[in-house]
Amino acid sequence: MDIKIPDNVKEVIGKRGIKEADIEAVVKEAESSNKKLVKNGRNLAKKKIGDVLVYVDYDIDKGVLSKHAKVNSAYTHRIVLQHIVNADGPSGWTCAHCNEAAAFGHVQMEYMTVKRNGPAVVCAKCGDSWAEEYLATKTLAAVEGLFEKKRA
Ligand SMILES: [Zn+2]
Repeated sequence: MDIKIPDNVKEVIGKRGIKEADIEAVVKEAESSNKKLVKNGRNLAKKKIGDVLVYVDYDIDKGVLSKHAKVNSAYTHRIVLQHIVNADGPSGWTCAHCNEAAAFGHVQMEYMTVKRNGPAVVCAKCGDSWAEEYLATKTLAAVEGLFEKKRA
């Protein structure tokens, strides 16, 4: 499947240090395993690449002869998402793999050996969890920065 990355998105991912090859890897794995979140035609997939978890938010445009993925955004975080702590309420996302509604909830997160509970979108059936963009780029990035400063 072809992957199209609009210029404005290329600029954002460049600033975030994400390579186009990483985006391709995330989308390809998600499409072959069907492990992703879906909501109104939007897809959110993730894959661990090196030390970071790379997320890609994309649409699938189906043409007459082929389909392609149009990337809306991509982001990363280094905090490791562990087991689900709780599931609070509907998130609007569906876990494509389980075909089950995914919930807003909390997962145990680990970073630099410190474990804390933090918010995430969770699938109670397969136990997978995802950090949405605002959380990853704001909250998790701030926590990572704080820990790195402490250690430095
Ligand atoms: Zn699931």
